[in-house]
Amino acid sequence: MEKVKLKSTVLIYSINKKSVTLRYCSEIINIDDSLGDIAFFFGLLNGLYNESEIIEEFSKKYNSEYSQKAVEYLETVKDLGLVELVNVDNQNVLDDYEIKRWSRNIEFFNVIIPFGYNKYEVQSKICNSRVALIGCGGLGSHILLELAALGIKNLVIADFDEIELSNLNRQILYKEDDIGKKKVFTAKERVLEFSSRMNITALDKKISSKDDIKEIVSGVDLVICVADKPRHSMVKWLNSVCCELNIPYINGGLDTKRSNFYSVIPGVSGCTECWFSSLGDSLLQKKVLQEDYLGKDYKMPAPALSALVSITAGIMVCEAIKLLSKSQHAGLTNKRKSFIFDDLSIVTEEKWNKNIDCLCCKNSRNKEYA
Ligand SMILES: [Zn+2]
Repeated sequence: MEKVKLKSTVLIYSINKKSVTLRYCSEIINIDDSLGDIAFFFGLLNGLYNESEIIEEFSKKYNSEYSQKAVEYLETVKDLGLVELVNVDNQNVLDDYEIKRWSRNIEFFNVIIPFGYNKYEVQSKICNSRVALIGCGGLGSHILLELAALGIKNLVIADFDEIELSNLNRQILYKEDDIGKKKVFTAKERVLEFSSRMNITALDKKISSKDDIKEIVSGVDLVICVADKPRHSMVKWLNSVCCELNIPYINGGLDTKRSNFYSVIPGVSGCTECWFSSLGDSLLQKKVLQEDYLGKDYKMPAPALSALVSITAGIMVCEAIKLLSKSQHAGLTNKRKSFIFDDLSIVTEEKWNKNIDCLCCKNSRNKEYA
């Protein structure tokens, strides 16, 4: 049986003798300890004992009737994620370079995974995932760097555009010397400078049909879409293809001083057609959308701010971590959330459920997310 220890990210403070004070993930937990048994219990979480030995040591100090207390305390610290097993083995899922390069990621995963899970396996699962990124503009260039920093090795990126001077207020992958070059190839070059072990397929592609999307996303584990053109069809095509191929996706975009983001796990959460059918016939939103589909849009140049792009990219990549590692539940399914510049808040703008009769997703399956 593996020995158990308090995570190094849990700090214990000796404020007074009648309580135990912990700080974990910025949260301060104060536990009344008038008998002193809780302080003694935490002292046993030093990596020298396994679970049975902790209970045994606790019973020796107090009495065997009291051993049930130790069982309860153990369950509580496990549920709260305060303890981990000693000597969690890498099990050769990562090589020495990967262990060193991604060590801070790995320790982050150790904070979010349930007791008994292997932090190295989470990083390995992420490293070996295949992700498609549609769009290498503002959000795309931020997301691309974030994915590289996460350790994703296999990426398909797609874009058709060329770099312009007005892109350089937010499209941080590109330089002044790149003006006129294709975004998708320049993006690949830049990201490989940051992380040379990546395997990036760059597709110079303008999306004008469902088949174009299918060509980009076939065989990947996750799609991140930040392309919004053609405005009238992009969401429908993306949703339809991902539902058909059972691929989870994250979609996001900026709208003046706010940004919107959501994710869909086909077969598990509601898709965008489920959302559309939830609106009902007479709603204003549906009528506005119908005009949008006919081409109503902002005049160029439209507002776009790098700081807002950066936050949105970060949130979308946080969702990607959840979907790829499956170490936590998705945070953006069955809802659309927004980041709002005015008060810097993130709010849930609307919610919807999976429609079991939805023609788009009723046959989709994603068992591992259920
Ligand atoms: Zn649906």
